[in-house]
Amino acid sequence: MNLFDVLKEKINITDIVSKYLTLRRAGSYMKGKCPFHSEKTASFTVSPDKGIFYCFGCHIGGDAIAFIAKVESCSQIEAAKIIAKDYNIELPDSVESADTKDWFNAREYYVKICQLFETWCSQILLKHQNALHYLFSRGLSLDSVKLFKIGFCPSDPANLRSFLEFCKKNNMLIQDLIDAKLLLQAKNRYYFPFEGRIIFSIKDYLGRLFGFGGRAFEDLDNKAKYYNSHDNQYFKKGSLLFGLDLAKKFIQEKGEVFLVEGYLDAVMMAQAGFRNTVATLGTACTQEHLSQIAQYADKVYITYDADKAGQNAVIRMVELCWNANLDLYVIKLPLGHDPASFIQQKGDVTILINESLDIFDFILEDYGKDFGKCSFSEKLKLTKKVVELISKIKDNIKRHILLKRASELFGIPVEMLNNEITALSSQTMLEVKKQERSELEHPETNLCAKTQIRHSNEITLLEKNLFSAIVYNKGDLDLEEEKFLIQFFGSPFKELLTKIHGLKNSEASDTASRFSGLTEEERNLVSSLVIGANDDKNTLNELLAQFYKKQWKLIVTKIKLKISQAQKMGNVDLVKSLLGRLETLRNKILKRGGTNG
Ligand SMILES: [Zn+2]
Repeated sequence: MNLFDVLKEKINITDIVSKYLTLRRAGSYMKGKCPFHSEKTASFTVSPDKGIFYCFGCHIGGDAIAFIAKVESCSQIEAAKIIAKDYNIELPDSVESADTKDWFNAREYYVKICQLFETWCSQILLKHQNALHYLFSRGLSLDSVKLFKIGFCPSDPANLRSFLEFCKKNNMLIQDLIDAKLLLQAKNRYYFPFEGRIIFSIKDYLGRLFGFGGRAFEDLDNKAKYYNSHDNQYFKKGSLLFGLDLAKKFIQEKGEVFLVEGYLDAVMMAQAGFRNTVATLGTACTQEHLSQIAQYADKVYITYDADKAGQNAVIRMVELCWNANLDLYVIKLPLGHDPASFIQQKGDVTILINESLDIFDFILEDYGKDFGKCSFSEKLKLTKKVVELISKIKDNIKRHILLKRASELFGIPVEMLNNEITALSSQTMLEVKKQERSELEHPETNLCAKTQIRHSNEITLLEKNLFSAIVYNKGDLDLEEEKFLIQFFGSPFKELLTKIHGLKNSEASDTASRFSGLTEEERNLVSSLVIGANDDKNTLNELLAQFYKKQWKLIVTKIKLKISQAQKMGNVDLVKSLLGRLETLRNKILKRGGTNG
């Protein structure tokens, strides 16, 4: 039994995909927003019965292993290992022993080092009165400290020695810690880059610990407020979000997420009952952050501190959210407050959330306030920006209402603003046309989609259904009949079936491994064909009967041609065998319930 055989029996593609995006049932399929391209409506489709996925938007498809390989940017074998680990499946020795130093194991080891540091720091915090009291003084409960595994990294030599001792007990080398940048080396001593800081664990959406955020807290501290792990191949500030592993389930439930700036804000929000909260790592929010969030939510709340020059930041968020197809809402905080301090003082943020404004209302209200005081060029810039944002609204009525409000606010006639929108949309049309032209000139960029379009007209539903039934071994079709059958299929079924048939004959003996034997492009194509097939209503026998009936004339002509060739060559045995095949086939079709006319 090979690795893929082992996996196929035990895994469920819906469970695997659900860790990365929210799936909702749609008939016998599950649908969600595609993780491989940005979209507003769900075109990413999973067939639990067939164990495959296919995106009708970007035409990527395959089985569970192909999905993990794509989403984790790793090889098929590495993807299989990830799945095996999740399901606690023991891998065959042949797989385990190969490439022990590969990327997968290196990452596992790095995570293990981080976990040791986390465990130790969280133990230290509970003994460190100053740090613990600081957190309590900010309103955090002990439960929250434990839930988020908050820790403290001390600076004294005794504690450092105890940490090194702790690592030794866990078979971790000092050099490993240095490589992971959790320990630094000065002339004659080691020290922690995080020393004297409260430690927040930064994990990815699957809960893999990739690094830390350190926050200074003591009054006498003159160091920077935050110190984060440096970016490495696993820890990337631009894509990780603090708390996402814990918040994911709640974000999926509500379809909404609160995006805050500080670790304490995120913890306090969760403590106040808003478990669907995540924080950026002290850096600006990126497109990658929002694309990740968009896998689970449609709506994002951001907080806006009135004391900051935050207008530009909000505008930037509008663009980013737009690209990720997220609706943006702004929560206005009273001057001098962040979410954590507000919750600590008032006990709740519900009232602020209820008063939050959708981005357009927010901009009109916020910009309108000081519009009178702006210079002429500022006014012009502001007006254009607002009109540009309004022009992106698809809802005509909403657009009209906002334009009217903007017109009153800026003292500019609605018609003029409307003209500006028309100019903007014709500019967008030009860009779309340019994009289409470029796709035509560079067809290789979207080869698989093109293949699909090219074939879609020539593909009959019957061929598609039969193809799917054959791929999934539904019924008793022996390999010899399958080989015979393939020649009567049109393209691309013929080519794909020939390849799959070859793989069936090889040692790779089940559907999972056959999938893995295909190229990425072939996998996408098979998925697209199979996901649209309706092979459940008919048995393989019924489909075969229909297919033979439809192709009967062609089959007879082909066999008769071969017979006459054999006769010319005087090959009596071949003639007999061909006649026999014709008879067998006729009987088979009769048996399968078809008529051959
Ligand atoms: Zn897609």
